[in-house]
Amino acid sequence: MGAPPPTRAADRALARPRRRPLAALAALAALLAVGGTVAYDLDTPAPRPADAPADEFSAARAYRTVETIAARPHPAGSPANDQVRAHLEGVLRGLGLETTVQDAVAREAGQLSGAAAGSTLARVRNVVARLPGTDPTGKVFLVAHYDSVQSGPGGNDDAAGTSTILEVARALAAGPRPRNDVVFVLTDAEEACLCGASAFAADHPLAADGGVVLNLEARGSTGPVIMFETSRDNAKLVDVFGRAAPHPVGTSFAVEIYRALPNDTDFTAFLDRAGFVGLNSAYIDGGAVYHTPLDTPAAMDRASLQQHGDNALGLAREFGRADLKALDAGHDATYFPVPGGLARYPGWLVLPLAVAALLAVLALGWLARRRGRTTYGRLAAGFALGLAPIVVAPLGAQLLWAGVTAVRPGYAELLDPYRPTWYRLAVVALAAATLFTWYALTRRRVGPAALAIGGLGWLAVLGIALAVLVPGGAYLTTLPALAGAAAGLTALAVRIDGPWPVLATTLAGAVAVVILLPTVVLLFPALGMAMGGVAALFAVLLGLAALPVVDLLHPEAGGQRGLVAARARRAGALPAVAAGLAAAVFAGVGLAVDRFDAAHPVPTHLMYALDAGTGQARWLSHETDPQPWTAQFVGGAASVADFPGLGDTELRSGPAQAANLPAPKLEVIADSAAASGSGPVEQRTVRVRVTPQRPVRLLTLHVDGATEVESAVVAGRAIPGGRATGAPWGFGIVFHAPPPEGIEVTLVLAGGSRAAALRAMDASDGLDGVPGFRPRPADIGVVGSHSSEMLAVARTYPL
Ligand SMILES: [Zn+2]
Repeated sequence: MGAPPPTRAADRALARPRRRPLAALAALAALLAVGGTVAYDLDTPAPRPADAPADEFSAARAYRTVETIAARPHPAGSPANDQVRAHLEGVLRGLGLETTVQDAVAREAGQLSGAAAGSTLARVRNVVARLPGTDPTGKVFLVAHYDSVQSGPGGNDDAAGTSTILEVARALAAGPRPRNDVVFVLTDAEEACLCGASAFAADHPLAADGGVVLNLEARGSTGPVIMFETSRDNAKLVDVFGRAAPHPVGTSFAVEIYRALPNDTDFTAFLDRAGFVGLNSAYIDGGAVYHTPLDTPAAMDRASLQQHGDNALGLAREFGRADLKALDAGHDATYFPVPGGLARYPGWLVLPLAVAALLAVLALGWLARRRGRTTYGRLAAGFALGLAPIVVAPLGAQLLWAGVTAVRPGYAELLDPYRPTWYRLAVVALAAATLFTWYALTRRRVGPAALAIGGLGWLAVLGIALAVLVPGGAYLTTLPALAGAAAGLTALAVRIDGPWPVLATTLAGAVAVVILLPTVVLLFPALGMAMGGVAALFAVLLGLAALPVVDLLHPEAGGQRGLVAARARRAGALPAVAAGLAAAVFAGVGLAVDRFDAAHPVPTHLMYALDAGTGQARWLSHETDPQPWTAQFVGGAASVADFPGLGDTELRSGPAQAANLPAPKLEVIADSAAASGSGPVEQRTVRVRVTPQRPVRLLTLHVDGATEVESAVVAGRAIPGGRATGAPWGFGIVFHAPPPEGIEVTLVLAGGSRAAALRAMDASDGLDGVPGFRPRPADIGVVGSHSSEMLAVARTYPL
């Protein structure tokens, strides 16, 4: 039963409605409506006023706390940090909660990176309050950090989480007691080393049995609150999230992306300990202000705060009454936002679904050939050519951003532009231009059916790859492929010119929009414009999944000859040209709209490093291509090996005048040599006190690289030693928020009485008053980093 060969290109489509313009318009309107619904669903709720009912979360009430917490920068150890802590304690006590301050020296999980071993520690003061349950099955921990970075007041990061917890505590304390204990943990020194959370999880009596952790963060100033990280085997937790959070935005794909990014929050410190499970949520759009002086209360979008609070309160109530002993599902769930809620299915379905999608696409190809809509040769061509837009669109987006940053180099130091919308639209338009160009070039020769099936083939193949490598992300391509194949099979089962093929392919397009549009929308703020190519990739996958609808809209009917064909080809190029133009216009508007000015300053990074022993001073900068303002201070890259406390090997550097500032004082309290065990090798135990001679945020101590440190004790905490490195400085200790009286360090050195050396450094924040420093003009800002405006003073002490 040989199928008749297709005679005209239009016959090779999956749908060929009689009234094509009408069908095209209807399909487009339907997909736009679905897209609008998706966008509306991702929108943040209206902030509730200060007179909202007592059992509700009010962003207006919480915002008052934001203003108190984020009045000024308050890094761990600073007097401003003390004031914030006193306020938090007062509020929690005022609610009638058992409130204590955990005062401890904590060590960061893991070791210092690089060849030289060492440890990062901090003195932390966590504020901990407990609402006792009536019949507890376990504990629910609401966690946020109250410290800020040194370079900004932390109006969002993390006054958002801290104020949310206070308002949730108020609402819970005002209502009936929960069944389970609810513990409010406001951590210190998150920005420094997650040390407050480490101290709580490792040492606090309330943490001894573990529990459910809800960590609240902000890495920007606006946008939906995304539940972006979970503990392992999350299916039951995700189920509670889907049921109890009023605005559940989260995807199992984010968990996978987050694991690949070099970011950490307090949540990590809890997950490092057995017995803790939980969910981590943050809003992340408006990333330009992250960690900068612009992260003020005024910058906060109170709708994002309302969403944080609604979700945290809903989750605290639900986990407050659930049986916390029954939360281990034994498997991870796949989940993603859909209008009105959170879709979810168990992880064991991921691979079977991916295989089913691939089989369905293969069946579609087989049937399409049988029905004469295509040939195996064309199917092969459609599949091979389908790779082109998948590769070209992301590359184009990366090139576009390279071009934009060439025009505006200041973007290199920003997580995202101040006003990124136009650039995001440019990337989407560029992805569309890529898809339309590819379609105009291939449609006539390969045929719409083969191209559509080839595109679905790539989605299905990617679904298999994701199911194996990144299971939480497999739904992104598996489900659109499955829907597309089902629609194609439906279309082939009925008359090609009836309404059903259009309806089926439009429905499949709607599935692709529901699944992939939130991904594109959320990926932009998650990764920033510098990785806009990832969003472009998913935009083009959305286009491929909806190719039969694209075909309805595409002007080229195909099959004509001569003059008509030439005109048709010109018409066929129209969508590509229009989308390409739109991309250029959007990028141009972006450049025109998002100029640097006093309210949106170009970020610059500067530090000052003084060797108090030699009297040598330097300006240093992290900028790879220094801004004109920074270039007044620094020139080429130079080694900073003499400042191991800065944690870098090379920075932009320039000469500076020596400030009259003291290095930390190092006193040897005890120094003894002893034979180690039975062997001839001698050990030397040195006990020193290092004391800052001025108010500082951190203190570092490094041992010369020729000396092996067998073990050490820092402020009473034992830490592992480290081998000799051969570099000038090896084993090191970084201590955040050191007490004014300094810290005591005991070092057990291998190699007996051989001469050794210690390099002590401390660092404060702010460069005003440093000789030669010229304050920034209004339109020059500060890079959001943990070392911006750092003033470091170091000195070498022979042992
Ligand atoms: Zn932060």
